[in-house]
Amino acid sequence: MNNIGIYVHIPFCVSKCRYCDFFSQNGTDEEMSRYTAAVNKSLIEWGSKLMRSADTLYIGGGTPGAIGAERLISIAAAARSAFNLRNAEITAELNPSSADNSFNFELLRRGGFNRLSIGMQSANDNELSRLGRTHTADDIRTAVRRARAAGFENISLDLMLCIPEQTNESLIRSIEYCAELGADHVSAYILKIEEGTPFYEERELLTLDEDAQTERYMLACERLEKLGYSQYEISNFARRGKESRHNLKYWNGDEYLGIGCAAHSYLNGKRFYTARSFEEFYDGVIHEDGSGGSVEEYIMLRLRLTEGLTQRDFRARFGTDIPDEYYQRAKRFEDNDLVVCNTEAIRLTRKGFLVSNSLIAEII
Ligand code: SF4
Repeated sequence: MNNIGIYVHIPFCVSKCRYCDFFSQNGTDEEMSRYTAAVNKSLIEWGSKLMRSADTLYIGGGTPGAIGAERLISIAAAARSAFNLRNAEITAELNPSSADNSFNFELLRRGGFNRLSIGMQSANDNELSRLGRTHTADDIRTAVRRARAAGFENISLDLMLCIPEQTNESLIRSIEYCAELGADHVSAYILKIEEGTPFYEERELLTLDEDAQTERYMLACERLEKLGYSQYEISNFARRGKESRHNLKYWNGDEYLGIGCAAHSYLNGKRFYTARSFEEFYDGVIHEDGSGGSVEEYIMLRLRLTEGLTQRDFRARFGTDIPDEYYQRAKRFEDNDLVVCNTEAIRLTRKGFLVSNSLIAEII
């Protein structure tokens, strides 16, 4: 049986960023300990139930760094004892403001973590402050430097596009900062204004028109490539061999188990999740979310990758060639430079990535 991926959600943040609708809140020391113990118990229970091995563990949030290195390594230890984790990619997300001197990078590294994803977002302090981030560009440099000194050789930085006060020049500065800090991987997402966030109140003022968004996205893709980061997914860029193994599981339609509040899973053909609720997580309430693994779902996920939907992988998964109907529908968008089709694969172009949701819906 294939190895699965494990995702653990840590729902604590010191303060709330203005654009954020992730499930996270302030937590006391006691609440963090209680939550960690529940995560570890859940990992052990799922381990004995599934009897599977995992080769990726991703601790995201929220701000995993906020619970401290000791609790994080206890989670990695529970995951190891439940799911083996041999030769695994083990990632923790960190916020630069929670990675100050009190954060023990060495302990995290010794506890088996080998990849960090640091929420940089921008290298410009005015933009960071407008986003409600509690760190500066200097804090990002300090976090990366401390992580490197502790032996982390795989560091990803998050970058946000189309944020308030950002200009093409300031975006280039942020991208160059990623390279200057030696990032191995960059995730560059366009700001999405979600209902219920403070930014939603200002959405008309903050939302860039389509042309401006296109320009920013293209600029980011080109600059990142020029600096040696190859695009492998709509929003993800990596130096050779530093692609996120965990996130690739999602886009390849592989199985994963999510532990904690608001965590989703796909296992044995079924999708299920825990609600955005501490009580339900502590009570072990699981919500079914239908079946997974259909041809349409696989195509939808694979078209997010620059490699696209390949005949080779489709055959390996479903035992047949990609059905012609998908080729026929995809070919209608070739003249607009949104899609490329050949005998080996169907893939979206960079221009196609910008309208991926509607384009993929048309194809499937
Ligand atoms: S640090 Fe991340 S999870 Fe926490 S509030 Fe900000 S964006 Fe949301």
